[in-house]
Amino acid sequence: MGALGDLQAVLDRIGAEMAEAPDRGRVADYIPELARVSDRHFAMAVCTADGACLTTGEADTAFSIQSVSKVFTLAIALGRLGDQLWTRVGREPSGLAFNSVVQLESENGIPRNPFINAGALVVTDAILQGRRPRDVLGEVLRFLREAAGDDDIHINKAVAASEQATGHRNLALAHFMAAHDNLKNPPDLTCGTYFHQCAVEMTTRQLAMAGRFLMGAPGAARLVSPARVRRINALMMTCGHYDGSGEFAYRVGLPGKSGVGGGILAIAPGRASIAVWSPGLNAQGNSQLGTLAIERLTRATGWSVFG
Ligand code: GLU
Repeated sequence: MGALGDLQAVLDRIGAEMAEAPDRGRVADYIPELARVSDRHFAMAVCTADGACLTTGEADTAFSIQSVSKVFTLAIALGRLGDQLWTRVGREPSGLAFNSVVQLESENGIPRNPFINAGALVVTDAILQGRRPRDVLGEVLRFLREAAGDDDIHINKAVAASEQATGHRNLALAHFMAAHDNLKNPPDLTCGTYFHQCAVEMTTRQLAMAGRFLMGAPGAARLVSPARVRRINALMMTCGHYDGSGEFAYRVGLPGKSGVGGGILAIAPGRASIAVWSPGLNAQGNSQLGTLAIERLTRATGWSVFG
């Protein structure tokens, strides 16, 4: 059996193990539309540097990418603003929950990093400046479609509306940053754009395809430069799983970004872009089986960046 056959066998084994897993975590219920999703789903997709894309499970079922979208908006914001973005948001792990308000108070409205909600709101606010939400969302979709090589990627308006109706904490974060002059658009406009960006739906296969620029795939530098890709990966490693980032680095050993829809995008630099989806979350709001599945994949392949 060749290398790809071996990899497919590893994926199939992980898929079978995850189907049997007794503890699947808890589906997010603070966004009512997400609470309707079953915890039985599982999918994994691996796109390798030589152009193959292998999958197991329901890899062609679309799910809400939620905070995985923050990786793509960060790439867009860095492309538009360059290092100026870092005057408004930091690059340190927060050690706190994804939607925490307390740190913002003691740190004068400057969020710790672009992947906690406050930081992602600043990133979206920066892209929005001087433009309309629909133009920004059009750019996000164009970026995703080009990165994935697939035009069938859309926003689920019911999920966006559901979050809009219940997004009091995100609005609180936005207003707090506006009070510190770290939000340039009206809070409801920035939050509305952010809720729609989080409501993008993709399949696991599409997400792995869209992450290829982060593994340094041939030709990917046209989307984002290698120097920037390195930095985005560093932030994913240190901040991509909220207050579970250290644990993810310890167990998996790859840069990754999770979303409360149960998706994770992880990157094995130079080797593979990996996406996984299982809606049940652990205590830190990261996919329980998604984490376990990538942990088993890196153990089987030796892809941890730590050797
Ligand atoms: N839209 C979600 C929120 O802002 C994203 C959180 C996540 O996926 O971790 O609450």
